[in-house]
Amino acid sequence: MELIDIGANLAHDSFDADRDAILKRAVAAGVAQIVITGSSQESTGKAIELSRAHPGVLFATAGVHPHHAADLTVDTLPALQALARDPHVVAAGECGLDYFRDFSPRDLQRRAFGWQLGIAKATGKPVFLHQRDAHDDFIAILREHGIRHGVAHCFTAGEKECDAYLELGLLIGITGWINDERRGLHLREVVKRIPADRLLIETDAPYLLPRDIKPAPKTRRNEPAFLPYVVRAIAAARGETPETVAANSTKAARALFGLPARAESSQ
Ligand SMILES: [Zn+2]
Repeated sequence: MELIDIGANLAHDSFDADRDAILKRAVAAGVAQIVITGSSQESTGKAIELSRAHPGVLFATAGVHPHHAADLTVDTLPALQALARDPHVVAAGECGLDYFRDFSPRDLQRRAFGWQLGIAKATGKPVFLHQRDAHDDFIAILREHGIRHGVAHCFTAGEKECDAYLELGLLIGITGWINDERRGLHLREVVKRIPADRLLIETDAPYLLPRDIKPAPKTRRNEPAFLPYVVRAIAAARGETPETVAANSTKAARALFGLPARAESSQ
């Protein structure tokens, strides 16, 4: 299987001590390429740095997560715009709305989201989207900006939200949430609605460790090498083989992010 992890927070400091080992384990598990999530200006810078060190294997997104929306101001926006134009950056975001945690005021979340959709349009890059408990505002802002090119990452919602995203033209990213036998059961139904060429796979590492890893790693830290668990859970839900899910999601990821068909480097 040749897999692409479209959402791994490899800039996270929990990987600082053993990032090279993490990358080796990912390759050994069949993860050929990884898109590193930029969720702040700092993590975006780090994601770009890592992508430069591993050309053709690692790629970056450039964005500010809704939790940090208050950090994106008229003064800091130009720096993010510059980061987004870097050739290693394959998407604008992670951006969106999170009304579940409300770590930033909602008006500032909407402003930061709109700005980043503007960056996506200016650069011609797809958007890497985050949404929690904010579906109506989220869809309205996407429509207002005429966004049809991107991925709703870490999708955990229901049929209504899934259909709305598909109708907009977005792809859907599925994480190890689907492996969760307590809160992921509805996703096993919803995932059947996603056309094969619109379904992407991701770990969201270091978060969302698949619950069916036995024995679970003591650290509870997720990593790209665990992506095959997500593939198998999706395959079981859709009645497909893991190889089919892998091949289709890899093809869809390359098409959306414009990734090369083969890694240029074996690092
Ligand atoms: Zn997210």
